[in-house]
Amino acid sequence: MSYLDANATEPLRPAARAAVLAALDLTGNPSSVHGAGRAARRVVETARTALATRFGGRPQDLVFTSGATEANALAIHALGHGRRIIVGATEHDAVRAAAPNAAVLPVDSNGVADLAALAQLLSEGGPALVCLMMANNETGTLQPIMEAAAICRHHGALLHVDAVQAAGRIPVEFAALGAASLVVSSHKLGGPTGAGALLLAPEVAAIGALIRGGGQERGRRGGTPSVPAIAGFAAAALADPPALASLRDAIERIAMDAGALVCGGAGPRLANTTCLALPGVRADAQVIALDLDGIAVSAGAACSSGKVTASHVLAAMGLGDLAGEAIRVSLPWNATGADVAAFAATYPRMAARLRAALGRPLASRAA
Ligand code: PLP
Repeated sequence: MSYLDANATEPLRPAARAAVLAALDLTGNPSSVHGAGRAARRVVETARTALATRFGGRPQDLVFTSGATEANALAIHALGHGRRIIVGATEHDAVRAAAPNAAVLPVDSNGVADLAALAQLLSEGGPALVCLMMANNETGTLQPIMEAAAICRHHGALLHVDAVQAAGRIPVEFAALGAASLVVSSHKLGGPTGAGALLLAPEVAAIGALIRGGGQERGRRGGTPSVPAIAGFAAAALADPPALASLRDAIERIAMDAGALVCGGAGPRLANTTCLALPGVRADAQVIALDLDGIAVSAGAACSSGKVTASHVLAAMGLGDLAGEAIRVSLPWNATGADVAAFAATYPRMAARLRAALGRPLASRAA
């Protein structure tokens, strides 16, 4: 099987697996004062320092959560209180659901945020929180975070950055960005599921909790943290970013030769991600056909009750019908040329078969 769905979950890195297994043998609760508790706490605090250092924040300003969905919700709940909220049009649902009444910042045809529109929205008055992701999960598009942060600062607004897909793939240096907060997730960078982190700028670090309880995380997130997940998270985060651009480019050449279009391909992108639209062929049909041939990818479009909902990301990029016809190929850290060979043996056949079933072979489209 070729696993090409890293943006959903990265394969576990060996160092993360070893750290998880070692931490599973610890019995103590990190809040307990006895030796067993202190041993567990040491693991958590060592991981906190390693992660804060890795992503350019201060350990005391890093809040552990269950994952990025919770970390985004906490940031938006705490920093959005009493502020107008503006979200990028291509943000993940974890952000969109936490700010259902937010104003939407448009993007261009490559999915890059319109910074003139941001300045305009911010000049319309009132304190604001802007949510802009560093890299998009469906297309890999990179946002101009430093420029957006400067515009936010000029207007007295806070910037929240979802760096889930960027972390582990490109350098993430929170302090240098000028943002108020930043989110990363363990399972998106080769750690286990069940841990995420919210990094806060020192000026806004004293936030209230969304989940209240025993006062853990300096009163910012109640509940006993998952010590093994946190240990694995930190171990995974120390890995160097993989070099995947040449494999991704090879996959794009194979797909384009078979009639696919690369969505957002002309913009700045992550090296591991490509979003491939096959005109006229529903995304879910492509995903299922590739899965039957041993290739795991995903679709931006969600299918519920037999009805395909087009990807809001691709729709915001103005891709029309293609928004329901695109799959995401996202290479994991351990991808090799064998994955490209498997894709080459499968994708063109799948494309020809599904297009023929629709009565739209490639030649007739090109005519
Ligand atoms: N933000 C982005 C950009 C994502 O891609 C995802 C997961 O798909 C999330 C947030 C949610 O992450 P988690 O699974 O850690 O809750």
